[in-house]
Amino acid sequence: MNDINIQQNLDKIIQNIEQAALRCGRQPNDIQLVAVSKFNPITAIQSVIDHHHFTFGENRIQEAKEKFTPLIEAHPNIQLHIIGAIQTNKILDAVKIANVIETIDRVALLNPLQKAIDKTGRCPNLFIQINIGQEPQKAGILPSEANEFIELCLKQFGCKIQGVMGIPPVGHHPVPYFQQLAKFAHHYDLPEISMGMSADFEDAITCGATLVRVGSAIFGDRPVKI
Ligand SMILES: *Cc1c(COP(=O)(O)O)cnc(C)c1O
Repeated sequence: MNDINIQQNLDKIIQNIEQAALRCGRQPNDIQLVAVSKFNPITAIQSVIDHHHFTFGENRIQEAKEKFTPLIEAHPNIQLHIIGAIQTNKILDAVKIANVIETIDRVALLNPLQKAIDKTGRCPNLFIQINIGQEPQKAGILPSEANEFIELCLKQFGCKIQGVMGIPPVGHHPVPYFQQLAKFAHHYDLPEISMGMSADFEDAITCGATLVRVGSAIFGDRPVKI
């Protein structure tokens, strides 16, 4: 994928987000696009930056650190979202580099997270990841445990808990899952709902998404990692 294609894709997605928002009576500005750059090289990310888009998502901490440390130095207005499962031993690195960690998904992460915040003096915004499809292979707190978990997180991290994030199961119509995720956000008055990817972001917007995470529709099919 060359620069021109990436920038054309980006324009198209931004336009589609606007149209989806207007169709359901929402303000386009209320929906943020997170450009998911996982597995894509710095050159591809740079062409998005050159097109004045600065919000990115990465799902592996190590990869995020390698690619974004120099990019953030050159462009301090980058907003980096961590959107992949976080091993406890990577939480410090995540806190150091991320503006938003979208994948707070288990009680065992909370104390290491607190320690990392205390150590760095930095606190990213935090989203609770909910396993809305109740899929064993996916991260996220189960819906049946989510209320208790969200309440625990709110008690410990207060207003840093900004939202919820989820991924509907492949092959199912996503809307009921999006609605379920949105309900958790509304119940706790959390402002952010991160849902919707390349294939289903328009449905997600209809269901109330405030962030959509779009990768392949911007960057093309992901290069296979070797
Ligand atoms: C890869 C990924 C995306 C982007 O998926 P596309 O289908 O390429 O748009 C969004 N969210 C998460 C959590 C991801 O891991």
